[in-house]
Order: sequence, then C-alpha cells, then structure tokens
Amino acid sequence: MNKNIAVIRGDGIGPEIVNQALLVLNAVADMYGHTFTYDDVDMGGCAIDKWGDPLPQAMLDKCLASDSVLLGAVGGNKWNDVPGPMRPEKGLLRLRVGMGVYSNNRPAKIWKQLASASPLKQSIVDKGIDFIIVRELIGGIYFGEHKTDEIDGQKVATDILAYSEEEIERIGRIGFETARKRRKQLCSVEKSNVLDSSRLWKAVMHRLAAEYPDVELTDMLVDNCAMQIVKNPAQFDVIVTENMFGDILSDEASMITGSIGMIPSSSLGKTSCGLYEPIHGSAPDIAGMDVANPIGTILSAAMMLRYSFDMADEADCIENAISAVLDDGYRSADIMPSDPTEAAVCKKVGCTEMGKLIIEHLRKG
Ligand code: NAD
Repeated sequence: MNKNIAVIRGDGIGPEIVNQALLVLNAVADMYGHTFTYDDVDMGGCAIDKWGDPLPQAMLDKCLASDSVLLGAVGGNKWNDVPGPMRPEKGLLRLRVGMGVYSNNRPAKIWKQLASASPLKQSIVDKGIDFIIVRELIGGIYFGEHKTDEIDGQKVATDILAYSEEEIERIGRIGFETARKRRKQLCSVEKSNVLDSSRLWKAVMHRLAAEYPDVELTDMLVDNCAMQIVKNPAQFDVIVTENMFGDILSDEASMITGSIGMIPSSSLGKTSCGLYEPIHGSAPDIAGMDVANPIGTILSAAMMLRYSFDMADEADCIENAISAVLDDGYRSADIMPSDPTEAAVCKKVGCTEMGKLIIEHLRKG
C-alpha cells in the first residue's frame, strides 16, 4: 500500500522522537511491502522563526492533502513572549480545526513491565489499567465565546459552553464504535446534575445506545469519574466525554500509567485522515540531549497504521517489539525505576538507541 504522511517534527525534542518513529515506519514498510512517503510540514515555534506564522496556510494544505499527519510536539521558552494568536500552540489548534478532527482518543494502558512506576497502590494496578478516553476536541467551552465585561465597577468574565445535538452525536458514535472494537463498555461522563449541555449530552447518548445494543452504556458524573479513575481504573473500557472534562480526565489518566513519555494519541474526524501525536509537550529541558523517550511517538505511528491505514498486523508488530524491548530491561531515563534494586536489572538507553532496539525486535518478528 502507498501512503503519504505529513510529518511535523516541531520544536524541542520533536525532531528527535519523530526521527525514531519514521525509522520504525520505514522498517515496517520494508517488512510488509508498503511505501510510505513523507512530506515535511513546519508548525509551531520553528514555523514562527521561518515564516512568521505558527501554521502558514501552505503547511495546513500539505496536511489536508496527506493520508495522515504525524506530529512530535511544538512550543518552548523561546516563544513565550509571542502575542496570543501567533503562539506555537495556536498552530496546533488551527491544525485540529482545519483537519476537522473532533475526536481525540487517548489510551490509558499500564505496561506490565512499568507497573511499579504508577503512583497507585500495587493492589489497584494489579487489577489492570487498560481504557481509552474519547474526548470531543473542537467544541464546548474552549470554542465558545470568551469575554470580560465591566459591570458595576467590577470585571466579570464569561466563557460559553455550547454543544449541538449533532456535535454530541458524532463524538458519541466514535465512543460506541471504539467500545465495539474493545470490551463493549462505554461510560458517558458529564455533569447533568448542573449543566444543560450535559443533560443534552446524556439524552443524545441514550438515544444512540438503541443503535448499539451490543455495547453497554453507563453514565457517570465527571466529579465521580475523577475519583473512580484513581480508585478503580479497571472498571473502565471506553470513556466518552466533552472537551474540557476530557482534557482534565485524560491528564489524570496519563499519570496513573506512570510515564507521560509512553502515551500516544489519535485525533480523528469524518475521514480516515487523522492526526497522531504523543500526549507530551516539546520538553525543552531535555531537547537535543538524545535522552527523550520516543515510545509515545512510535506508538502514535502504530495507531496511525491501525486506525487510518487499516494495518492492524503492522501495528501489533510495533507494539510487540516495544513490549519485547521493555522485557529485555531497556529503559529511557524517564521510565528508569526509582527503586535501586529494580534499577540494577535495567539498562538505561537514549532516544536513538531505544529506536534502534525496537527496530531490531521488529525485524526479528
Ligand atoms: P512537557 O510534556 O514538554 O514536559 C513535562 C516533563 O516531562 C518535562 O520534565 C519533560 O522533560 C518530560 N517529558 C516530556 N516528554 C518526554 C519524553 N518523551 N521523554 C522523556 N521525558 C519527557 O510539558 P511542559 O514542560 O509543560 O511544556 C513544554 C512545552 O511544550 C511548552 O511550550 C508547552 O506549551 C508545549 N506543549 C506542547 C504540546 C504539543 O505540542 N501537543 C503539548 C503540551 C505542551
């Protein structure tokens, strides 16, 4: 199969981790007879430096013309004083809106080899953590009107949280479809005891449930969900929720799995052209040192193969190779155990070496 991938290396550790993911994709292409071509796209701080814009239209067009987009990370201290609309992160928001990717999917999975890195009690971790948060990405309060008025001599700030039935339905369907491919349990998270937008959310989810009789739908208030994620994460299979709740819950979920460097994400809309990126930022504190963990980006590339290119075997092959490297005791600095006894049986490797080891295992099959 031939696929054209738009590649955004971005800033900080972005270029280092993306390079390793591309080497892994090249190895997969060799092994399975595919051709992946890469189109470089400037976005973020590097695009501000080069073009005076975090995402010039010509760069967005390259992404829209691709079969999918692989992104490292953008941003860094150098651009902290750039005015709001020109900040590196604005490029990312414009990319998400431009691509129409309304569904952000983040797996929260604990790798058995890294179980001790979770801040949760071992007895909770032992029950297993393997769920996905499906977050609505281009609606809700982040995209509603924001304003600050002066009323009776004081400032009053307002942010509007609005959802249409159509917006809820399209993300709801992704939730049901995702659950259908997994353990068939969907938890819809909202705040229907207070918010009208949540009451509409709940009503639409229950209407959709009739079309997915094989999926068990439950409702949970967002405050309870925040507690349940740390108390009993094993109960979750797929969580579907609105933009801001998803933003907060998915950060909480990433923490309980132990390392931000291990977690991939996908963002999808109406077409199979998706945006794939690790959940972490550009880590300026370790940029250029060859110590970053490339696994979150490599797993993002695997998600691209699975969800956009229908290449499940190829994706399994990458995930198995990563698992084998972890079984052999190799760890990047962020996932080295803090316990000296455990650390003694592990081998610390850098970004390039980690990529190389994964490719070696891939080729071994
Ligand atoms: P960050 O995720 O970049 O870093 C947080 C901590 O995690 C740092 O100590 C970093 O060294 C470590 N870390 C992150 N990724 C790692 C990896 N792959 N391997 C090893 N360690 C890793 O978050 P931050 O420091 O808050 O943000 C830095 C910059 O990234 C900011 O400019 C921020 O706006 C931007 N950012 C970009 C994205 C994105 O591009 N999607 C997301 C979040 C933050």
